[in-house]
Amino acid sequence: MKTLNDILESNKNWAKNIQNKDSELFKRLSKAQSPEFLWIGCSDSRVPASEVCGAGPGEFFVHRNIANLVVENDLNCLSVIQYAVEALKVKEIIVCGHYGCGGVQAALDDKPLGLIDGWLENIKTTIKEKSSELSSCEDKTSRMVELNVEKQVANIANTEIVKNAWKNNQELRVHGIVYDLASGLLKDLGVTLDQAQA
Ligand SMILES: [Zn+2]
Repeated sequence: MKTLNDILESNKNWAKNIQNKDSELFKRLSKAQSPEFLWIGCSDSRVPASEVCGAGPGEFFVHRNIANLVVENDLNCLSVIQYAVEALKVKEIIVCGHYGCGGVQAALDDKPLGLIDGWLENIKTTIKEKSSELSSCEDKTSRMVELNVEKQVANIANTEIVKNAWKNNQELRVHGIVYDLASGLLKDLGVTLDQAQA
């Protein structure tokens, strides 16, 4: 079992490796950040945002929650989007779901789990909306993972933050992708929205 000390040791090695590759990186990043990507992903430990994209510190602004949801009254997520779009001026917002998502599975199972039920209600609404498509699916969970991502892309495009950015001709695209836990590969769902499709 790993302890905090193990993690602190790993961190020293990690920082040393980065220093060896780019001796100025930490110095530059300590002054400011200018990431081009906002990543909205699942909290699942198996889908670490920067790592799966081979990105380093400073490249991704990140928000994660259970089942990568963008909910209209979630001030936490909306604040992240606002700061990313209006202050950092990210060019790409990526919603990343993943096959085998426990949150999506729990919503499909529809069994009471306590506090989290209120959160999963957001997925259950989409399940109801897409019930006819899902009923003909062999792998309901995987399809629902994709449909859930697509829904969040639409939710982001629907925020005043993103609508205003597009109205002001700010370069900004919203993408939906899914991560495959079994292969480590990302799949583009082809549901990108930009100013032209808004
Ligand atoms: Zn998940």
